[in-house]
Amino acid sequence: MNLSNPWFLAALIAILGVFHLEMIAKLLNLARYGLPLPERLKGVFDEETVKKGAEYAGKSARLDLIQNAFFLAVLLGFWWAGGFAWLDRTTAAWGWGELWTQVAVIGVIVLVKSLLSLPFEAWDTFGVEAEFGFNRTTPGTFILDRVKGMLLMLVLGVPLLALIVWFFQTQPLAAVWAWLCVTGFSLLMTWLSPRLLMPLFLKFTPLGEGSLRTAILALAQRLKFPVADVSVVDGSRRSSKANAFFAGFGKTKRIALFDTLVEKHTEDELLAVLAHEIGHCKLRHVPVQITIGLAETGLMFGLLHLALQSPAFFQAFGVSGRPVGLGLVFFAFLYQPLGLLLGLVSSAVSRRHEFQADAFAADACTAPPLMTALKKLSTENLAHPQPHPLTVALHYSHPPLVERLAALEKRNASANVMPA
Ligand SMILES: [Zn+2]
Repeated sequence: MNLSNPWFLAALIAILGVFHLEMIAKLLNLARYGLPLPERLKGVFDEETVKKGAEYAGKSARLDLIQNAFFLAVLLGFWWAGGFAWLDRTTAAWGWGELWTQVAVIGVIVLVKSLLSLPFEAWDTFGVEAEFGFNRTTPGTFILDRVKGMLLMLVLGVPLLALIVWFFQTQPLAAVWAWLCVTGFSLLMTWLSPRLLMPLFLKFTPLGEGSLRTAILALAQRLKFPVADVSVVDGSRRSSKANAFFAGFGKTKRIALFDTLVEKHTEDELLAVLAHEIGHCKLRHVPVQITIGLAETGLMFGLLHLALQSPAFFQAFGVSGRPVGLGLVFFAFLYQPLGLLLGLVSSAVSRRHEFQADAFAADACTAPPLMTALKKLSTENLAHPQPHPLTVALHYSHPPLVERLAALEKRNASANVMPA
């Protein structure tokens, strides 16, 4: 422990600060279940649903808190006991050379963290989610998902990581190269993901001929949205929670509907939700989000570059020299508060986009079906009827239901007074 090292203090404050902020946000959010429902939500959430939602949120929050406290204790214990220096020595002794040793250090940390997370994930899926009737994942799917995830990380993550480590070991302009590299990688991913990655986890079946298919194609044509095919995804194999659609990128869009969504909604509601998704595409929300993400990545690499120059940064974690791999891990701890702060901006932008897509859907299909769809999604997924503003600011990529309904009602009212 070296209190005179500013990096040490900054890291300690960052780690403890984020832990406590998240805890406070959770407690404030739970307390809001006791509030009386506003007029607009009275017909939506009955007493039973609110009570069940509060129990569900309480149990999820307890699991989160235990998990966060556990990882905090492991991290502080490892740090205080000189674990990072030990890991540095141990991996160096493997004789893998400068580059792969640093990749291995990160690999070991990621692997251990994933293994330690497993019991908590299992508790979440087979404990909390199952208790409230959401879980449909079998232990086989659960394990297979994680194995596939690990393999993907090995195939895609390790080469990218090795390249980044190599840049920071050898190039004076490492931050720029790393940024270009990550930019290329994330653009490749947005292209690959619906084509190659999602099919690894989900099964896509073409939506059969029928009134729904005809209506979807008619809507797409009316909105001048070129659709290559419409498929149904077997989300129900994992969870009963209804998820919205996603649409592929590129010239010909592929629309995919979760089977859980199709099951629970009327044709009009499905069309309204789909119009909302088409709204995101038409209003170019994805490129805006990607740009914000890339700007943040640029800032992150710039700061990382500064941190890696400082021997005191490594000494704060008990490590001598400047091993890049461990440096990346330490930087991740220090970056947390700033990441949280920047996250506020990107989620605020995302919530604005949701309002815009809602308005687009209301204009394309009228507001009422979207409103009933949103109400159904909220109650079935046991969403918080009145989340605390701090939780909304920190974690909500979508505005709370009551705000979306208010905006849609306003839109609907102004559409109705307009002359035909
Ligand atoms: Zn949306």
